[in-house]
Amino acid sequence: MDASQGDAPAAPRPSPDLSRLPRVDLLLQREDALAAIDAYGRGPVTDALRRVLDDVRDELRAGAPLPAPGDIVARVAADLRHARAGRLTRVLNATGVVLHTNLGRAPLSAAAREAAVDAAGYTTLEYDLAEGSRGSRTAHVGALAAELCGTEAATVVNNGAAALVLVLAALSTGREALVSRGELIEIGGSYRLPDVMAVSGAVMREVGTTNRTRAGDYRAALGDATGLVLKVHRSNFEVVGFVEEASATELAAVAGEAGVPFVYDLGSGLVRTAADGPFAREPSVDAAVAAGADLVILSGDKLLGGPQAGIVAGRADLVRRCTAHPLARAFRIDKLQRAALEATIEAHLRADVPTELPTWAMLTAEPAQLRARAEQVAALVGPAATVEPTRSLVGGGSLPGVELDSWAVVLTRDDVDGLAADLRAGDPPVIARVEDGRVLLDLRTVPPADDDLLVDLVRACLVDG
Ligand SMILES: *Cc1c(COP(=O)(O)O)cnc(C)c1O
Repeated sequence: MDASQGDAPAAPRPSPDLSRLPRVDLLLQREDALAAIDAYGRGPVTDALRRVLDDVRDELRAGAPLPAPGDIVARVAADLRHARAGRLTRVLNATGVVLHTNLGRAPLSAAAREAAVDAAGYTTLEYDLAEGSRGSRTAHVGALAAELCGTEAATVVNNGAAALVLVLAALSTGREALVSRGELIEIGGSYRLPDVMAVSGAVMREVGTTNRTRAGDYRAALGDATGLVLKVHRSNFEVVGFVEEASATELAAVAGEAGVPFVYDLGSGLVRTAADGPFAREPSVDAAVAAGADLVILSGDKLLGGPQAGIVAGRADLVRRCTAHPLARAFRIDKLQRAALEATIEAHLRADVPTELPTWAMLTAEPAQLRARAEQVAALVGPAATVEPTRSLVGGGSLPGVELDSWAVVLTRDDVDGLAADLRAGDPPVIARVEDGRVLLDLRTVPPADDDLLVDLVRACLVDG
């Protein structure tokens, strides 16, 4: 084993096939290799070919037969296909979680998709057509958002998290932002309110307790150092039992007394108060503005049903301070987001419950319709499928604990995890829910137009399995 001493060990006798392996440059001239080069580029194909040839040499030494050149190129193409499988891929969401953050939250409406496609080339992103000169990236979409929210002004940034950082930085750097200990939330990933406040430069001043915070707690903390009063929607959990929180109306009064802004981070972006139903307890933009919030913050891709975006709406002077802050440039939206957001807001302006937005079509789908679709899908899939009632979730940090009655297609196979994996390997992949040793396909989150596709994809798995 020690190469430093004496004669090198006798090299194993080379396989006679090794010398018959085709050369890289000749393989690259083949028709099938040229097709791979068209798809992936010469560099990646050449690198993959070298790797495959290394493997083939090892296999030949181990006694495997010489592969045909076509087989070698086919392995190269398969390797590259596999390596590219991580690219963004359309999926069928059969989880029943409407705003599934891992699956891209809100699916866009047809109008929003068209607007984004139109905006993909040159656009008037920062161009004033009438003047033929530089225009504002956010003026029009901000005005639409203000109209939607019923506020003097609004602006738009990359997402809700950025919107909150921007507001804190623009209005409360070096000054205290008063926030309830019951609202020091974690949204997910590394988004934790105390950390967000720290990076914004605002000084976090906690008031009240985890379960009870009253208006008087905020009032007692007011002082020369106060920058603003902040209320944050507990969008992904509930506190029950001995609890109390200050209302938006009370906080608007407290902030007004001290002459500081009252900022309400609503997160989920329910535009209009729902009189009843699953959204009745969700804080809404119209109620927050009516209660006297000076600024509200909401996400574009939660209940608004649009692209990722963060909206800051409220008093014109405060919005102006936000747009003038250097972070506004760092957090700006791009043209595709802006186009899709404008189309999404226009849908909300056309209808109180804009079912042209897939999010709202899914949230308001009647269980009876879902049952009929589930029965149809199950009948087409065959005897391996049954239907049963289930519960869908709103998800995406909205309506904690709120479930919607739904219907699922239930699939049984000996190994359910294998079945779920087979569904994920489809084209497009189907993301299902595994529950109690069965695979559930909740039709609430599958667009009705995709039911036939779902049938085909499921049947393929059951046949293969
Ligand atoms: C979701 C949420 C955010 C973050 O918004 P993103 O658009 O996901 O960045 C901030 N605050 C609250 C209360 C939220 O629910």
